Amino acid sequence: MSYRSAFVYDQILSQHVLSPKHPLKPIRLQYTYDLLNSYGIFDDSRVSVVKPRLAKYEEVLSFHSSRYVDAVSRVSEGKETADLGSFGFGTADNPVYSNMYESALWSSGASMLSAELLLSDTYDSVMNISGGLHHAMPQYASGFCIFNDPVMAIKRFLSDSMKVAYVDIDCHHGDGVQHAFYDTDSVLTISIHESGNYIFPGTGAVEEFGSGKGRGYSINLPLYPYTTDDIYLWAFRQVVPTVLEKFKPDILVTQLGIDSHFRDPITHLALTVQGFRDVVKEFSKVSAKWMGLGGGGYDLQAVARGWASAYGVMCEYELQDQIPLSYGGVHEVYALSDDDSFTFGYKIHEKARKFAEGSVAEIRKHIFPFHGLGHLE
Ligand SMILES: [Zn+2]
Repeated sequence: MSYRSAFVYDQILSQHVLSPKHPLKPIRLQYTYDLLNSYGIFDDSRVSVVKPRLAKYEEVLSFHSSRYVDAVSRVSEGKETADLGSFGFGTADNPVYSNMYESALWSSGASMLSAELLLSDTYDSVMNISGGLHHAMPQYASGFCIFNDPVMAIKRFLSDSMKVAYVDIDCHHGDGVQHAFYDTDSVLTISIHESGNYIFPGTGAVEEFGSGKGRGYSINLPLYPYTTDDIYLWAFRQVVPTVLEKFKPDILVTQLGIDSHFRDPITHLALTVQGFRDVVKEFSKVSAKWMGLGGGGYDLQAVARGWASAYGVMCEYELQDQIPLSYGGVHEVYALSDDDSFTFGYKIHEKARKFAEGSVAEIRKHIFPFHGLGHLE
């Protein structure tokens, strides 16, 4: 049987507005869909567009407390709650907005459906660009995230006794997902991100490598601001493929935040779209069913180009670099890849390179032995 892929999407996922000046703009999801559609990718018989569903209350409770979930529902309806702040709301990052509860149920339901599609054996890869909300914690919202759909989907896989690896390439540390599986060896979590010394949420040091049975099963690869494609790819290849090969997951869940792009307005890593795509290509070499999720990304056309490129890799569909005029003419973008990038002085590049080498060395020294990889060099 040939390779089959699903893209879980409906425009309802992109209609809400957090606040007029909020960097997270759900319309980027529609741009990504429109860009992919302009290539005719959804006409391919191996690719299906599947409409999402709302997450069920019990599914949300697989990670979140009922006290928190009920508070999200009440606040969303405009009912007062005295302790808004204790649930993470009412800040510039996490404003209360209309339809908040329903929007969160749509994006996490899209991930639950994606999990079911993979478990049904009909599809080899499934993408939900509205998911990947990795910062949400059991009892509070954090970093633009209300419900933690990666955790909910992974728990769904675990209930079918699947072995799951989660790899997070968002510019920010995947703290909520790490928290959920910190003391278990049944889920391997790997996060590659800008060092918490320089950016939210401040966590994700190499020393956070799991506890109890989970020792060695939380892996963090922090990088220095202004890290470019060459350094990023080198560091990724030094760690991720080797550990995944040893772990042998049934399911690979990837959080594909593209706020690592050099033009992203709120972060400092410096990947190009083609560099990001090369990282995603590394995932295609893993022999496991593959779930792709969205995540951060605040330069809207970098998001559309990055996620379109990623989905092209996920469904093995060759996208020409030249963007079809039906999309490019409207949005004034003409190529998937970047033809420019930030150029940094030698000193910054060297600092980024040394920082990456340091993180890789620490991981290989302290974490590889948990996987029987102690003698590899
Ligand atoms: Zn992010």
